[in-house]
Amino acid sequence: MICRCFLLAALLLAAPRGFAWGKLGHEAIGTLASNLLHEEVRLRVNKILGTDDLAEASVWLDELRSVGRGTGPLAGDADAVAFNEKFSDNHEWHFVNLPLETTAYSVSTRFAAPNDVVRQINAAIAVLVGKSQKFTPSQALRVLVHLVEDIDQPLHVGTGCFDFRNPRAPKLVSAPGERTASHGDLGGNKVLTGQSKCDNLHSYWDTTRVEQVAGTGDADKLAAHLRTSINSTTWHTPGDYHAWAEAWATDSVHEAAAVCRGIVFTGAKVNGESERKTLESIEADLPKDYESKQKPRAQAQLAKAAFHLADLLNAIDWKVP
Ligand SMILES: [Zn+2]
Repeated sequence: MICRCFLLAALLLAAPRGFAWGKLGHEAIGTLASNLLHEEVRLRVNKILGTDDLAEASVWLDELRSVGRGTGPLAGDADAVAFNEKFSDNHEWHFVNLPLETTAYSVSTRFAAPNDVVRQINAAIAVLVGKSQKFTPSQALRVLVHLVEDIDQPLHVGTGCFDFRNPRAPKLVSAPGERTASHGDLGGNKVLTGQSKCDNLHSYWDTTRVEQVAGTGDADKLAAHLRTSINSTTWHTPGDYHAWAEAWATDSVHEAAAVCRGIVFTGAKVNGESERKTLESIEADLPKDYESKQKPRAQAQLAKAAFHLADLLNAIDWKVP
C-alpha cells in the first residue's frame, strides 16, 4: 500500500498539471454549451468543426499532451502534431496561478503570465473575429472551447502558497504580497489528502468531484443534470466580451479560496536547502463535511462553464469562416 501510494504521488507530482475537469467534465460542459448556442452560431461552429457538438472540441487541447509521445487519440493527426510543434508551451495555457486572496485578475500582476489561460482565451477570440492569424479557425475554436471550460475550475486559477519553515505545521499564506512561486501548490497539485495521503486535491476537483455531482460517468446525463442549475441572470458577464476572461478568472480565484476553506495542512515535504527550498508536497485533511459542502460549488462551476462558453460564442463578432 505504501509503495502504491508513493508511486501514485510521484506520478501525480511529476505531471506538469492536472487535466481540468477530466474528460467527463469537459464533454458534459461542451454538450450543454452546444445546446445553448444561437442557431446562426451553431451553423458557424458546424462549418468550422464539421459538427455542432462541442464535446469533442472540449478535450482536444488535453489530448494534445500525448501527441508528442505518439500516443492517444490524436497520435498521427497532422494538424495536432503541427500545432504541438509550433506551440510547445501549450500545456501551460490551461491555468494561471493566482494567490487565494487575489482581489482581481490583471495582466499586469506578477502572477499573470504571457501565455496564461486568460491571454490564450483572448488570443483565440482574436482569430475568430479576424484580428489575428495565430491559429487556424478550427484550432482557435478548439482552444477557446477548452480554455473557457478550464477557467471555471477554481483550482486552475487559484493556488495555495505555504510558509513551511516548520514542515510539521505548514501555514497557508493567501495574501499576494507574501507568495513566492517555489512555495506554491500548483492549484492543489501538490496537496495530498485522504486516509493514506494519496489523493491529489487538484485531481479530486477534476474528476472525483465531477463524477459525484450527478452520480454518473455519462457525459450526456451529466449535461442534462447541469442544465437545471443554469442561472443566466447572475452568470451573464457584463461589458465588452474581450474582458470577460479576466472577469471569469477573478470569479474563479474567489471560488478557489472557498474550495480551500477549512482544509487543515498537517505536514510539508520540502526540497533544497535554506533560502532555496521548494515545496515537494503537502499533506492535508479535508473537513468531514467537505464533500457535501463543496458539491453545490462543483455543480455550479461546471454549469457556469457551459453558460460562459455559449454566452461568449453567441456574443463574439465572428469573421470566420
Ligand atoms: Zn485543460
